[in-house]
Amino acid sequence: MKDRTLKRYVATLMLALLVVPQLFGVAEVPLPAVTGWDMFSPEQDIQLGQQNAAEVRKQMPILPDSNPVSQYVQQLGAKLVATMPKPTWPYKFHVVQQKDINAFALPGGNVFVNLGTIQAAQNEAQLAGVMAHEMSHVYERHSTKQASKQMAAQIPLGVLGALLGGGVAGSLARAGLQFGAGSIFLKYSRDMESQADAVGARIMYNAGYDPVQLANFFQMLEKQGGAQTSQFFSDHPNPGNREEAIKKEIADFPPKNFIENSPAFEKAHQEAMGIKAYSAQQIQQHAWGAQSTGDNGISAAVPAASSAFTTLNHSAFDISYPEDWHVYGDTNSAVTIAPQGGVSQNAVAYGVIINGSDSQNGNSLDQSTQQLVSSLEQSNPGLKQISDSNITVNGVKGKSIDLAGNSPIQGQRERDWLVALPRSDGSLLYAVFIAPDKDFPQLRPTYERMLRSWKIK
Ligand SMILES: [Zn+2]
Repeated sequence: MKDRTLKRYVATLMLALLVVPQLFGVAEVPLPAVTGWDMFSPEQDIQLGQQNAAEVRKQMPILPDSNPVSQYVQQLGAKLVATMPKPTWPYKFHVVQQKDINAFALPGGNVFVNLGTIQAAQNEAQLAGVMAHEMSHVYERHSTKQASKQMAAQIPLGVLGALLGGGVAGSLARAGLQFGAGSIFLKYSRDMESQADAVGARIMYNAGYDPVQLANFFQMLEKQGGAQTSQFFSDHPNPGNREEAIKKEIADFPPKNFIENSPAFEKAHQEAMGIKAYSAQQIQQHAWGAQSTGDNGISAAVPAASSAFTTLNHSAFDISYPEDWHVYGDTNSAVTIAPQGGVSQNAVAYGVIINGSDSQNGNSLDQSTQQLVSSLEQSNPGLKQISDSNITVNGVKGKSIDLAGNSPIQGQRERDWLVALPRSDGSLLYAVFIAPDKDFPQLRPTYERMLRSWKIK
């Protein structure tokens, strides 16, 4: 071999090495670093996600892992996960036997894809797009960032540390935050949507799919419209110009031969068409959610209250309550005391939330109470004060405030009776007694008896 030939050979090889990775799909683009404030630790994301996934399993029909469609989705998911920077979240993929075109992800990596989504996808790339989008919400920790913001707005900072020290799910419950399907975790902002599209586009590209297919799928959904897609757009609000934004995002990516479809997709798609998928309404009625008789899984009937009372010895107070009610929370933080069926997905429809406010140095009881009422009104849209009076509870002079708001039970108005008592450090201890308007009179005697037993320590 002559020198010159060798040189040319080497040059060709070099050129091939430069070109080949792009042609054969080896080229990769980095995912952006995750920034932004999150009061949860990554471990808490995982813990919360697992607790939620257990909830979802109770509420929704999940296709068994052994089903060929689940297996296909899990394989496709694994292919996408393989492109993620390590270490990454413990992603898990599930198929929900639901008609509606939807998908959602819980913090820490559980991704649920509705059967309807698989049925509606025209090719593997589109399905990969939806999954990559959901994975991006997990990657960006959008759920716990949303929860962080809401908790910060809702809970005085002084008690946040105590709240987060215990079980996280309980903390969210005590903060009145819902989780599970259809919860705060799944309501993303438009900015978050754009971010999930941008990260999702990169995951798709790295896995060998054309990111534009993600936009195509969303466009198809929008064209289809109607009830079957409404939940998706309620959870994932359209940031506008999805296609344009994605095209801009990928403009500088090296060219690549993309996979559009696979025989495995076609097979799974066909299989999916033959599996019974339920409507959201059927799922609710079937009561996968155990006691789900009303909206949100909250019992529509007035829950029972035993006349036999038992006492909660909290570090900050004692209170008696019907022995068949449950205490959520521990004795060092805020608690919710509620009847069976009174709380679902951690929205309280019936029951009592007891919490503490930040210490308000120099403020009068009236001023501190007004501040508390404003912060409650701010964090609960629709909540309005309707009356204000003085009250004495076991020798402590406090304030009694009636508020009206929206019940977590669909179409119902709610009465919230707030009683605030001053503590020696200038902060408030307060209880909110909650019931739908029409049921409040029936529960009032129970609430009054609880209040009479309430003693600050
Ligand atoms: Zn989204």
